[in-house]
Order: sequence, then C-alpha cells, then structure tokens
Amino acid sequence: GRASPPLAALSQVLRLERSRRTGIVFPLQKLERYLAPGTDTARFRLFQPGLAALQRAEALFRSDRGHPIDYVSSAVRMDHAPPPALPEVCFIGRSNVGKSSLIRALFSLAPEVEVRVSKTPGHTKKMNFFKVGKYFTLVDMPGYGYRAPQDFVEMVEAYLQERRNLKRTFLLVDSVVGLQKTDNIAVEMLEEFGIPYVMVLTKIDRASRGVLLKNVLEIQEFVKENTQGCFPQLFLVSSVEFSGVHLLRCFVAHVTGNLPTVEAS
Ligand code: GDP
Repeated sequence: GRASPPLAALSQVLRLERSRRTGIVFPLQKLERYLAPGTDTARFRLFQPGLAALQRAEALFRSDRGHPIDYVSSAVRMDHAPPPALPEVCFIGRSNVGKSSLIRALFSLAPEVEVRVSKTPGHTKKMNFFKVGKYFTLVDMPGYGYRAPQDFVEMVEAYLQERRNLKRTFLLVDSVVGLQKTDNIAVEMLEEFGIPYVMVLTKIDRASRGVLLKNVLEIQEFVKENTQGCFPQLFLVSSVEFSGVHLLRCFVAHVTGNLPTVEAS
C-alpha cells in the first residue's frame, strides 16, 4: 500500500515541539491566546480529550487484517443505501469545501481506502458509504452549490430524515470565506429536522490568523444565536497539515459510541 503522509499518525505529531504539537492536535485552542482578555472561552474547550482517548480513536481509523476499513457502496436513493446496521456519521458541505480531502485525511492510516470523487458537471452525485470495521459507517454526501439541483436536495433531505442510525452530521465550512448563503440551506435543513450536527472549518492552513479568528468568532456567534442542534465547539482542520484531524477522529469515535469515556487532557 501507499505510505501514509507525515503527521497522519499521533506518534509523528508527538515528536514535534510543544507549540506546534498543540497547533496540530488542538488548533482551536491555539487561537485562544489571541482573544481579547475576558472573552468567554468555554466554547473553545468542550471536547478536549487526553492522549489515551486520541490514541484509542486513532486505532479505529487504522486498518489491519482483523479490522478492515472499506468503501462499501454508493447510492442515489435511500432504498439503495446499505442497511442501517452500525452507528453512522455523515459529512456534507459545498462543492470544493475540502470534503474529499478531509475524508482522505481521516482515512490516511487505511491507505487502501479509495475516496472517490465525481466532479464532472452534470454527473450524478451519490452518497458514498464507508465501513470502519464493525464499529461505524461514514457517509460522504454529495457537495452542494449555487445551482444545487432539486434531486440533490431531495436525496440529502430523505437521508437526514430517514436514517435512523445517523449519530451526527459534520457540516463543512471553508475557514477562509466563512459561512456562505448556500451553507444556510444546509443549516436550515438540519435545524428543521432536529438533526444533531457540528461545524467543521476547513483549509485553516490557507487562512491568516486574523481571518481565521474573525470567522471563528462570527460562526460561534451564529451558532449561539441561530441554532439548536449544532455543537457549540467548532472543529478546525487542515487536510494538508493534518491539523485537527486527530481530534476529529476522536470526536467521530466518541459520537458513534466507540469511546465511552473521554477523559480530559
Ligand atoms: P470537495 O469538493 O469538498 O470534495 O473538495 P476537495 O477535497 O476536492 O478540495 C477542493 C480544493 O481545495 C482542492 O484543490 C484541494 O486540494 C483543496 N483543499 C482541500 N483541503 C485543503 C486544505 O486543508 N488545505 C488547503 N490548502 N487546500 C485544501
């Protein structure tokens, strides 16, 4: 198989000096020191697992003979979806937000997993199902855009409404440009159906610290004022530098019930 990229494994991150290590493992926390004094930082550290939990989560994302991680199937309709046998998480976001890159980064310790991309305009967009051993499934939902076709909205709507084993939805937002009008379509859908979700800010390596801080604070405020079902802590990731990827693996493991106790770091 292919070699996994540098920093894909915690063992590699642990060799870095302390400040870089914090930036990779807890990118949101790293921003805290640039906040105005007196800012309420509760929402920066709600999910803050220790090393043992991060390592147990990583083991789930590392495939081996007794623990296969595989692409299972694609579906355009709910009756083509695999049976809802395991706890499930799904990833949604605008086209180009970095969804395939993030899923590839999450699965980088299972290099045999192929994250397919269908970007050809007019090409049928599908839900892609991945199975992580006997523990959970992860669904890559089709990306939406300015001209989100009706069939896309119907597919996602049906999935969100009907999927009984769905434990959490991960809504990806570009950290450079912040929330866009089209992202609100997804937010409104999730709110309307009462689906628990979490916002993931992508491509943080591309945002300057000022832009990142501004967008983090704006989105936190948006979540506080306008949402019921969104987890108050944002997740920041870079699929290039692997920042936030280890923490996100841990959160996925946690919400799918595969990490019963998460002790604080
Ligand atoms: P998708 O349409 O949401 O699946 O988006 P992709 O994963 O294909 O990413 C869209 C573009 O953004 C590609 O050119 C990626 O190389 C780039 N990209 C994705 N994630 C990152 C990231 O974390 N950092 C940077 N710098 N670029 C990224």
